[in-house]
Amino acid sequence: MSEPLIRLKGIERRYQSGEQEVTVLHPLDLCIQAGEMVAIVGASGSGKSTLMNLLGCLDRPSGGQYLFRGQDTAHLDALALARLRCHHFGFIFQRYHLLPHLDAAANVEIPAVYAGTSRTDRQARARALLSRLGLADRSHHRPGQLSGGQQQRVSIARALANGGEVILADEPTGALDSHSGKEVMAILKELHAQGHTIILVTHDMAVANHADRIITLRDGRVVEDSTQAKAATTANPADQIASLLDGRVVEDSTQAKTVTTTKAATTANPTEQIVSQPDEQKVEASPQATAATTAARAASQGWDRYREAARMALHAMLAHRMRTFLTMLGIIIGIAAVVSVVALGQGARAKVINDINAMGTNTIDIFPGKDWGDEKAASIQTLNERDLDALLGQPYLEGASPQIATSGQLRFRNKSSSGNVVGVGSDFFRVKGMTLTQGRLLDERDIQNRTAVAVVDGKTIESLLGKEDPIGQVVLVGTLPVRIIGVVTQETGFGRSSQSVSIWLPYSAVMSRLISQNHFSQITIRVKDGIQPALAEQAAVALLTQRHGVKDFFTFSSDSIIKSVEKTTATMTLLVSAIAVISLIVGGVGVMNIMLVSVVERTREIGIRIAVGARQSDILQQFLIEAVMVSLLGGLLGIGLALLIGFVFSLFVESFQMHFSLFSILMAFGCSSLIGILFGYLPARNAARLDPVEALARE
Ligand code: ADP
Ligand code: MG
Repeated sequence: MSEPLIRLKGIERRYQSGEQEVTVLHPLDLCIQAGEMVAIVGASGSGKSTLMNLLGCLDRPSGGQYLFRGQDTAHLDALALARLRCHHFGFIFQRYHLLPHLDAAANVEIPAVYAGTSRTDRQARARALLSRLGLADRSHHRPGQLSGGQQQRVSIARALANGGEVILADEPTGALDSHSGKEVMAILKELHAQGHTIILVTHDMAVANHADRIITLRDGRVVEDSTQAKAATTANPADQIASLLDGRVVEDSTQAKTVTTTKAATTANPTEQIVSQPDEQKVEASPQATAATTAARAASQGWDRYREAARMALHAMLAHRMRTFLTMLGIIIGIAAVVSVVALGQGARAKVINDINAMGTNTIDIFPGKDWGDEKAASIQTLNERDLDALLGQPYLEGASPQIATSGQLRFRNKSSSGNVVGVGSDFFRVKGMTLTQGRLLDERDIQNRTAVAVVDGKTIESLLGKEDPIGQVVLVGTLPVRIIGVVTQETGFGRSSQSVSIWLPYSAVMSRLISQNHFSQITIRVKDGIQPALAEQAAVALLTQRHGVKDFFTFSSDSIIKSVEKTTATMTLLVSAIAVISLIVGGVGVMNIMLVSVVERTREIGIRIAVGARQSDILQQFLIEAVMVSLLGGLLGIGLALLIGFVFSLFVESFQMHFSLFSILMAFGCSSLIGILFGYLPARNAARLDPVEALARE
């Protein structure tokens, strides 16, 4: 006789339980020929399921050899074993082990997905198998909507999805009523008649008697192996199924049509039998396909697997919507925070730079002292009118305006207020980007004549003059009566605090009539168009340093304002991003936590998937895709939330808008997928490494 399909040589299985080792299967030899129908019987706990798991390559023996078609399975790695299970074995379990969130057809398709069958092929096959088993009208029912017998028939269809050369049925009738049990047995017998190898575990002799051969186990040893005379049931098994199904028809007349057609099809044209001959796989694989089409097929299979994994991930996410959403929340908040803060920073920066540009980028302020906050600055008196004259004589400058700031009591009739009293040149208002709204500005004559006239802004009018027409009114600055000649507004909110009351006088008037001081607190110079501000600044610095003999002043240009604003926004963005990164990590840990829970919760599902042929990489991929999908969706919602914040912001804040850059959105996207991969990996790997036997035993 040729090499048997299955040959066990001294196979044994021991379990480590605590300190001691328990031998569940004692070394046993066993041969099973292709096409046999074998029943393994024995009391509960005798090792039947253990033997079955070894036969189905779900479990590895502790000793001995298992040859499948002459090939030692000990030499096969996890991947090869998965392929063996996928293409050659079909499992049927006592508790059906269907995936509850998938409908019957989708359950039947699972092994074909892992075998890489194309979508259309496997859908057609699932449909055909289900109608062959009398479930055509139940293919879109979920397991929960099916009776036990129907569920078991779905699981038989699943076992046949990839051909089911060897059917391993562990107590297939154990959970069924006697009628459904008979139905299932009739189907198994028909499959046997068609050439499938059937290995059946049962503790029920009535069930075992359907088999040609009965192997009896007791305490992990084969105590009897009897081949019995052909059973008394002489009837053609196909007819028997049909009659059984017909029996069901009587109870449910609407199904009569389906069943009779099925029966007609089976009997009329045996070559079209849907329940395939075991050899079908090999016929299909006949090497007529060229390398190119094989490659294309492999590519489409890879894509198909991804799509299936994504679909399954989506199912899982939908099944736990609330939990998925809460998991995402960390990521949503993190991403929304990063995106909107970056947008806010960009918007503020754009606004400031815009303001400065409107003001003119070609002004440079010169202050006494080394830098801002120099304590000696107040005692430096070198910045004076002669410096101003020298600067005004420079060909690269268009103008220069000094400032001399002091503060004083302002009085108008019976109202008084303290305010900034600033002595300025005639260029001042233009240089600072202020616009005249009423009256006139200070001019050269006012400066030369030290006239006691002043320009004010809206704030001053509001707090001092009330509703009076300001032009021509006389205000007391200290003891000096000053006539108001003009009103200005400062469009940009930058530079001067618009909250304070300010009054601008000719600097000459301030210096001679208000305070006795002949040095300025600031000179603002304006660079001619077409000359680089940086060069002009250098020249002005050189000039003043030479005049003073020492550099006792510092310059501040709008260029440096822009630079410092950019530096500040960059620092702020970095800071907030760091906080956001922390929140994203927290979000990622949330994802990991939920994924770990999900793996534990779905242990049985993972076991089922491995049993029907999923490779470790399939399981890893599925959970990884799920983690990535959760965080990617979280990222998307986060971006949406940020855009919403931007919209609401634009409704309430008019002065500037948030700027969303494509870059920051893409970064957010990239970050969230990375989080999914990073934090999803550990749970996914845990899932992939589960022991299928233990996983299946889990309730
Ligand atoms: P049967 O299917 O015949 O009822 P099993 O094959 O499930 O029996 O179990 C046979 C024996 O192996 C039982 O005594 C059981 O307690 C033991 N057993 C099964 N799995 C394990 C395990 N993972 N660790 C320790 N003992 C186990
Ligand atoms: Mg068992």
